[in-house]
Amino acid sequence: MARRRDRGRAPLKPEFALIERIRARAAGRGDVLLGIGDDAALLQPPPGQSLAWSTDTLVSGVHFPDDTAPADIGWKALAVNLSDLAAMGARPAWATLALTLPEADADWLDAFLDGFCELADAHGVALVGGDTTRGPLSITIGVQGFVPGGGGLRRDGAGFNEDIWVTGTLGDAAGALRQWRAGGLQSMKLRHRLDRPTPRVDVGLAIAGFANAAIDLSDGLAADLGHVLARSGVGAELDLGRLPTSITLAEHFADEAARWRLQLAGGDDYELCFTAPASNALAIEQALSACDTFATVIGRITREPGLRLVTPAGEDFALGDESGFSHFGGQA
Ligand code: ADP
Ligand code: MG
Repeated sequence: MARRRDRGRAPLKPEFALIERIRARAAGRGDVLLGIGDDAALLQPPPGQSLAWSTDTLVSGVHFPDDTAPADIGWKALAVNLSDLAAMGARPAWATLALTLPEADADWLDAFLDGFCELADAHGVALVGGDTTRGPLSITIGVQGFVPGGGGLRRDGAGFNEDIWVTGTLGDAAGALRQWRAGGLQSMKLRHRLDRPTPRVDVGLAIAGFANAAIDLSDGLAADLGHVLARSGVGAELDLGRLPTSITLAEHFADEAARWRLQLAGGDDYELCFTAPASNALAIEQALSACDTFATVIGRITREPGLRLVTPAGEDFALGDESGFSHFGGQA
Protein backbone atom coordinates (compact mmCIF):
# COMPACT_ATOMS: atom_id res chain seq x y z
CA MET A 1 0.00 0.00 0.00
CA ALA A 2 1.41 3.32 -1.06
CA ARG A 3 1.93 5.47 1.95
CA ARG A 4 1.07 9.11 1.70
CA ARG A 5 4.61 10.40 1.78
CA ASP A 6 5.58 8.13 -1.13
CA ARG A 7 3.33 10.06 -3.46
CA GLY A 8 5.68 12.99 -3.43
CA ARG A 9 5.19 16.32 -1.81
CA ALA A 10 2.15 18.40 -2.62
CA PRO A 11 3.18 21.93 -3.65
CA LEU A 12 3.17 24.39 -0.77
CA LYS A 13 0.10 26.57 -0.59
CA PRO A 14 1.12 30.13 -1.46
CA GLU A 15 0.57 31.23 2.15
CA PHE A 16 2.99 28.62 3.48
CA ALA A 17 5.52 29.37 0.76
CA LEU A 18 5.47 33.00 1.93
CA ILE A 19 5.82 32.00 5.58
CA GLU A 20 8.75 29.80 4.63
CA ARG A 21 10.45 32.74 2.92
CA ILE A 22 9.97 34.78 6.08
CA ARG A 23 11.20 31.98 8.36
CA ALA A 24 14.34 31.54 6.26
CA ARG A 25 15.36 35.14 6.94
CA ALA A 26 14.33 35.48 10.59
CA ALA A 27 17.36 35.83 12.87
CA GLY A 28 17.45 33.86 16.10
CA ARG A 29 18.25 34.77 19.69
CA GLY A 30 19.20 32.66 22.68
CA ASP A 31 16.00 33.60 24.49
CA VAL A 32 13.79 32.30 21.65
CA LEU A 33 13.14 28.70 22.70
CA LEU A 34 10.79 28.12 19.78
CA GLY A 35 10.26 30.56 16.92
CA ILE A 36 8.29 30.53 13.65
CA GLY A 37 6.70 27.21 12.76
CA ASP A 38 4.66 26.05 15.73
CA ASP A 39 1.31 27.18 17.09
CA ALA A 40 2.97 29.74 19.33
CA ALA A 41 6.47 30.98 20.06
CA LEU A 42 8.15 30.06 23.35
CA LEU A 43 10.16 32.94 24.75
CA GLN A 44 12.30 33.33 27.83
CA PRO A 45 12.29 36.85 29.35
CA PRO A 46 15.30 37.61 31.57
CA PRO A 47 14.69 37.30 35.31
CA GLY A 48 13.85 40.53 37.12
CA GLN A 49 12.83 42.39 33.96
CA SER A 50 9.37 43.57 32.95
CA LEU A 51 8.13 42.89 29.45
CA ALA A 52 7.35 46.06 27.44
CA TRP A 53 4.86 45.12 24.75
CA SER A 54 3.52 47.28 21.93
CA THR A 55 1.77 46.89 18.59
CA ASP A 56 1.09 49.19 15.65
CA THR A 57 -0.65 48.76 12.30
CA LEU A 58 0.35 50.41 9.02
CA VAL A 59 -2.31 50.70 6.34
CA SER A 60 -1.37 51.55 2.76
CA GLY A 61 -2.40 55.09 1.83
CA VAL A 62 -2.94 56.00 5.49
CA HIS A 63 0.44 55.41 7.12
CA PHE A 64 2.59 55.58 4.01
CA PRO A 65 2.06 56.99 0.50
CA ASP A 66 0.96 54.23 -1.88
CA ASP A 67 4.13 54.71 -3.96
CA THR A 68 6.36 53.76 -1.00
CA ALA A 69 8.99 51.13 -1.90
CA PRO A 70 8.36 47.73 -0.27
CA ALA A 71 11.75 47.80 1.48
CA ASP A 72 10.85 51.17 3.01
CA ILE A 73 7.48 49.78 4.14
CA GLY A 74 9.30 46.89 5.84
CA TRP A 75 11.67 49.28 7.57
CA LYS A 76 8.99 51.74 8.62
CA ALA A 77 6.56 49.12 9.91
CA LEU A 78 9.20 47.89 12.35
CA ALA A 79 10.62 51.37 13.05
CA VAL A 80 7.33 52.81 14.31
CA ASN A 81 7.00 49.86 16.69
CA LEU A 82 10.58 50.09 17.95
CA SER A 83 9.94 53.81 18.47
CA ASP A 84 7.23 52.89 21.00
CA LEU A 85 9.69 50.68 22.87
CA ALA A 86 12.25 53.51 22.74
CA ALA A 87 9.72 55.83 24.37
CA MET A 88 9.41 53.33 27.24
CA GLY A 89 13.18 53.10 27.69
CA ALA A 90 12.94 49.43 26.71
CA ARG A 91 15.55 47.20 25.10
CA PRO A 92 13.95 45.49 22.06
CA ALA A 93 14.08 41.70 21.79
CA TRP A 94 11.30 40.12 19.75
CA ALA A 95 8.76 40.96 17.06
CA THR A 96 5.72 39.39 15.42
CA LEU A 97 4.53 40.22 11.91
CA ALA A 98 0.92 39.99 10.76
CA LEU A 99 0.84 40.60 7.02
CA THR A 100 -2.26 41.15 4.93
CA LEU A 101 -1.32 41.13 1.24
CA PRO A 102 -3.47 41.61 -1.88
CA GLU A 103 -1.64 38.69 -3.52
CA ALA A 104 1.08 36.13 -2.78
CA ASP A 105 3.85 38.25 -4.33
CA ALA A 106 7.22 36.72 -3.39
CA ASP A 107 9.22 39.59 -4.94
CA TRP A 108 7.30 42.15 -2.94
CA LEU A 109 7.79 40.09 0.21
CA ASP A 110 11.55 39.71 -0.36
CA ALA A 111 11.93 43.46 -0.79
CA PHE A 112 9.77 44.10 2.28
CA LEU A 113 12.00 41.72 4.26
CA ASP A 114 15.13 43.56 3.05
CA GLY A 115 13.99 46.68 4.91
CA PHE A 116 12.47 44.82 7.85
CA CYS A 117 15.50 42.59 8.45
CA GLU A 118 17.99 45.45 8.05
CA LEU A 119 16.42 47.25 11.00
CA ALA A 120 15.66 44.09 13.00
CA ASP A 121 19.27 42.96 12.70
CA ALA A 122 20.58 46.40 13.67
CA HIS A 123 18.65 46.11 16.94
CA GLY A 124 19.15 42.39 17.55
CA VAL A 125 15.41 41.76 17.23
CA ALA A 126 14.23 38.21 16.47
CA LEU A 127 11.07 37.70 14.40
CA VAL A 128 9.27 34.97 16.36
CA GLY A 129 5.90 34.58 14.64
CA GLY A 130 3.00 36.21 12.91
CA ASP A 131 0.13 35.63 10.56
CA THR A 132 -0.32 35.83 6.80
CA THR A 133 -3.66 36.61 5.20
CA ARG A 134 -5.08 38.01 1.98
CA GLY A 135 -6.72 41.42 1.72
CA PRO A 136 -5.88 45.11 1.22
CA LEU A 137 -2.22 45.75 2.12
CA SER A 138 -1.85 46.17 5.86
CA ILE A 139 0.97 45.33 8.25
CA THR A 140 0.60 44.81 11.98
CA ILE A 141 3.77 44.36 13.96
CA GLY A 142 4.07 43.56 17.64
CA VAL A 143 7.30 44.19 19.50
CA GLN A 144 8.46 43.09 22.89
CA GLY A 145 11.36 44.40 24.91
CA PHE A 146 12.65 44.54 28.45
CA VAL A 147 12.79 47.20 31.13
CA PRO A 148 14.27 46.77 34.60
CA GLY A 149 11.51 45.32 36.83
CA GLY A 150 8.58 47.75 37.06
CA GLY A 151 10.69 50.57 35.58
CA GLY A 152 10.45 52.24 32.20
CA LEU A 153 9.62 55.74 30.97
CA ARG A 154 5.95 56.62 31.15
CA ARG A 155 3.70 59.44 29.98
CA ASP A 156 2.43 60.33 33.45
CA GLY A 157 5.61 61.46 35.22
CA ALA A 158 6.15 65.04 33.97
CA GLY A 159 6.56 67.49 36.87
CA PHE A 160 6.29 71.28 37.26
CA ASN A 161 9.18 73.30 35.81
CA GLU A 162 10.84 70.33 34.10
CA ASP A 163 12.65 70.88 30.83
CA ILE A 164 10.95 69.52 27.69
CA TRP A 165 13.40 67.89 25.31
CA VAL A 166 13.08 66.52 21.78
CA THR A 167 15.58 64.45 19.83
CA GLY A 168 16.71 65.11 16.26
CA THR A 169 14.86 67.59 14.06
CA LEU A 170 11.11 68.00 13.66
CA GLY A 171 8.88 68.40 10.62
CA ASP A 172 10.99 66.72 7.94
CA ALA A 173 8.58 63.83 7.34
CA ALA A 174 5.59 66.16 7.37
CA GLY A 175 7.38 68.36 4.84
CA ALA A 176 7.90 65.34 2.60
CA LEU A 177 4.23 64.39 2.84
CA ARG A 178 3.22 67.95 2.01
CA GLN A 179 5.44 67.92 -1.08
CA TRP A 180 4.19 64.48 -2.15
CA ARG A 181 0.57 65.57 -1.85
CA ALA A 182 1.29 68.74 -3.84
CA GLY A 183 2.64 66.53 -6.63
CA GLY A 184 5.52 68.84 -7.56
CA LEU A 185 9.25 68.61 -6.83
CA GLN A 186 10.17 66.51 -3.83
CA SER A 187 13.26 66.66 -1.64
CA MET A 188 14.78 63.16 -1.42
CA LYS A 189 16.29 64.06 1.96
CA LEU A 190 12.89 64.88 3.42
CA ARG A 191 11.33 61.84 1.76
CA HIS A 192 13.98 59.63 3.35
CA ARG A 193 12.91 60.92 6.77
CA LEU A 194 9.31 59.94 5.95
CA ASP A 195 10.17 56.50 4.58
CA ARG A 196 12.97 55.50 6.94
CA PRO A 197 12.38 56.95 10.39
CA THR A 198 15.08 56.16 12.95
CA PRO A 199 13.67 54.70 16.16
CA ARG A 200 15.55 56.39 19.01
CA VAL A 201 16.15 53.19 20.95
CA ASP A 202 19.61 54.28 22.10
CA VAL A 203 18.24 57.56 23.45
CA GLY A 204 15.40 55.83 25.33
CA LEU A 205 17.90 53.57 27.08
CA ALA A 206 20.36 56.42 27.76
CA ILE A 207 17.84 58.80 29.37
CA ALA A 208 15.83 56.19 31.28
CA GLY A 209 17.50 57.10 34.60
CA PHE A 210 17.22 60.89 34.11
CA ALA A 211 13.87 61.61 32.43
CA ASN A 212 10.53 61.53 34.26
CA ALA A 213 8.20 61.21 31.26
CA ALA A 214 8.57 60.33 27.59
CA ILE A 215 6.58 59.75 24.42
CA ASP A 216 7.51 59.15 20.81
CA LEU A 217 6.29 61.64 18.22
CA SER A 218 4.02 59.87 15.75
CA ASP A 219 1.03 62.21 15.43
CA GLY A 220 2.83 65.55 15.85
CA LEU A 221 4.53 67.31 18.77
CA ALA A 222 1.45 69.25 19.90
CA ALA A 223 -0.80 66.20 20.05
CA ASP A 224 1.78 63.83 21.50
CA LEU A 225 3.10 66.26 24.10
CA GLY A 226 -0.58 66.89 24.85
CA HIS A 227 -0.89 63.22 25.91
CA VAL A 228 2.00 63.64 28.34
CA LEU A 229 0.46 66.82 29.77
CA ALA A 230 -2.96 65.23 30.17
CA ARG A 231 -1.59 62.09 31.80
CA SER A 232 0.69 64.10 34.09
CA GLY A 233 -1.90 66.76 35.02
CA VAL A 234 0.32 69.68 33.96
CA GLY A 235 0.71 72.18 31.11
CA ALA A 236 3.62 73.36 28.99
CA GLU A 237 5.13 76.40 27.35
CA LEU A 238 7.09 75.86 24.15
CA ASP A 239 9.57 78.31 22.67
CA LEU A 240 8.98 77.97 18.91
CA GLY A 241 12.32 79.60 18.15
CA ARG A 242 13.99 76.55 19.69
CA LEU A 243 12.25 73.85 17.63
CA PRO A 244 15.10 71.83 16.08
CA THR A 245 14.92 72.37 12.32
CA SER A 246 16.91 70.67 9.58
CA ILE A 247 18.62 72.83 7.00
CA THR A 248 16.68 70.98 4.31
CA LEU A 249 13.31 71.75 5.88
CA ALA A 250 14.25 75.41 6.25
CA GLU A 251 15.32 75.52 2.59
CA HIS A 252 12.09 73.98 1.32
CA PHE A 253 9.70 75.73 3.70
CA ALA A 254 10.95 79.28 4.05
CA ASP A 255 7.86 80.62 5.79
CA GLU A 256 8.43 80.30 9.53
CA ALA A 257 4.80 79.95 10.56
CA ALA A 258 4.13 77.29 7.91
CA ARG A 259 7.20 75.44 9.16
CA TRP A 260 6.07 75.60 12.78
CA ARG A 261 2.76 74.08 11.73
CA LEU A 262 4.56 71.17 10.07
CA GLN A 263 6.73 70.71 13.15
CA LEU A 264 3.88 70.95 15.67
CA ALA A 265 1.09 69.13 13.86
CA GLY A 266 2.68 67.19 11.02
CA GLY A 267 3.49 63.85 12.59
CA ASP A 268 5.66 60.93 11.43
CA ASP A 269 8.80 62.29 13.12
CA TYR A 270 9.39 59.29 15.40
CA GLU A 271 11.62 61.43 17.56
CA LEU A 272 11.41 61.20 21.35
CA CYS A 273 9.97 63.96 23.53
CA PHE A 274 10.86 63.71 27.22
CA THR A 275 10.82 65.80 30.35
CA ALA A 276 13.44 66.05 33.09
CA PRO A 277 14.39 68.41 35.92
CA ALA A 278 16.91 71.07 34.84
CA SER A 279 19.34 69.59 37.38
CA ASN A 280 19.58 66.50 35.14
CA ALA A 281 20.45 68.47 31.99
CA LEU A 282 24.19 67.85 32.17
CA ALA A 283 23.75 64.15 32.86
CA ILE A 284 21.39 63.94 29.89
CA GLU A 285 23.84 65.74 27.60
CA GLN A 286 26.52 63.30 28.71
CA ALA A 287 24.29 60.25 28.22
CA LEU A 288 23.32 61.49 24.75
CA SER A 289 26.92 61.91 23.65
CA ALA A 290 27.06 58.15 23.09
CA CYS A 291 23.86 58.22 20.98
CA ASP A 292 23.35 58.70 17.25
CA THR A 293 21.48 61.98 17.64
CA PHE A 294 21.27 65.13 19.71
CA ALA A 295 18.42 66.53 21.77
CA THR A 296 17.22 70.07 22.36
CA VAL A 297 15.34 71.73 25.21
CA ILE A 298 12.30 73.41 23.63
CA GLY A 299 10.29 74.52 26.64
CA ARG A 300 9.20 73.74 30.16
CA ILE A 301 6.36 72.19 32.10
CA THR A 302 3.91 74.64 33.72
CA ARG A 303 1.34 74.26 36.50
CA GLU A 304 -1.46 75.75 34.38
CA PRO A 305 -2.92 73.08 32.08
CA GLY A 306 -2.79 73.50 28.30
CA LEU A 307 -0.06 74.02 25.75
CA ARG A 308 1.21 77.57 25.24
CA LEU A 309 3.18 78.22 22.04
CA VAL A 310 5.39 81.30 22.16
CA THR A 311 7.10 82.89 19.13
CA PRO A 312 10.64 84.33 19.36
CA ALA A 313 8.95 87.77 19.50
CA GLY A 314 7.16 86.68 22.70
CA GLU A 315 3.74 86.41 21.08
CA ASP A 316 1.28 83.55 21.44
CA PHE A 317 1.02 81.33 18.38
CA ALA A 318 -2.31 79.68 17.54
CA LEU A 319 -2.20 76.26 15.93
CA GLY A 320 -5.92 76.29 15.22
CA ASP A 321 -7.54 73.03 14.14
CA GLU A 322 -4.28 71.48 13.01
CA SER A 323 -3.51 69.85 16.32
CA GLY A 324 -2.18 66.56 14.98
CA PHE A 325 -3.19 63.46 13.09
CA SER A 326 -6.37 61.65 14.14
CA HIS A 327 -7.73 58.59 12.33
CA PHE A 328 -11.37 59.29 12.98
CA GLY A 329 -11.06 63.09 12.76
CA GLY A 330 -12.93 65.57 14.94
CA GLN A 331 -13.75 64.73 18.53
CA ALA A 332 -13.37 61.17 19.75
P1 ADP B 1 -1.91 28.95 12.68
O1 ADP B 1 -2.82 28.29 11.72
O2 ADP B 1 -1.61 28.15 13.91
O3 ADP B 1 -2.24 30.37 12.96
P2 ADP B 1 -0.07 29.78 10.65
O4 ADP B 1 -0.16 28.89 9.49
O5 ADP B 1 -0.79 31.09 10.60
O6 ADP B 1 -0.48 28.95 11.94
O7 ADP B 1 1.45 30.09 10.97
C1 ADP B 1 2.40 29.04 11.03
C2 ADP B 1 3.63 29.57 11.71
O8 ADP B 1 4.18 30.61 10.93
C3 ADP B 1 3.39 30.16 13.09
O9 ADP B 1 4.52 29.88 13.89
C4 ADP B 1 3.28 31.62 12.83
O10 ADP B 1 3.68 32.39 13.96
C5 ADP B 1 4.25 31.81 11.67
N1 ADP B 1 3.87 32.90 10.76
C6 ADP B 1 2.79 33.01 9.96
N2 ADP B 1 2.79 34.15 9.27
C7 ADP B 1 3.92 34.81 9.63
C8 ADP B 1 4.49 36.06 9.28
N3 ADP B 1 3.90 36.91 8.41
N4 ADP B 1 5.66 36.42 9.87
C9 ADP B 1 6.25 35.62 10.77
N5 ADP B 1 5.77 34.42 11.12
C10 ADP B 1 4.61 34.01 10.57
MG1 MG C 1 -2.30 32.01 11.69
